[in-house]
Amino acid sequence: MKLTKLRQKILDVIDNSEKIINIKNIWGSLDPQPNITSVYRSIDHLENKDLINSISISGVKYLISKNIKGHGHFVICRECKEVTNFEDCVISALQEKLQKDLDYNITSHVLYFEGYCKDCEIALRKKENNTRS
Ligand SMILES: [Zn+2]
Ligand SMILES: [Zn+2]
Repeated sequence: MKLTKLRQKILDVIDNSEKIINIKNIWGSLDPQPNITSVYRSIDHLENKDLINSISISGVKYLISKNIKGHGHFVICRECKEVTNFEDCVISALQEKLQKDLDYNITSHVLYFEGYCKDCEIALRKKENNTRS
């Protein structure tokens, strides 16, 4: 399949990412930086072609590369939207069980937790204390 230069670049950024990645991150890593609207459009195109998947978390869209084979596990900061990977796969047993119970061939799973990273937590607490005093 032939992709335009920009679409190929964006796909490379997503595929080379170890984590799920949001559109601003993708845009930020492109050099030269294209118009962000064309990044949105390219991502729509790649999704339609089934080259990438996405999930929306708290209104932010994250792209999942096909590189994250079968499963991904993340912690996402609600404040700075930073994504951290973790390796422990605690749900493969559940996946197997569901496969049997529901008679389903399950091909992938994405597990994520939301919260506040240390820096944001500290910043938020400071803010809270300031408004109280
Ligand atoms: Zn944070
Ligand atoms: Zn897993």
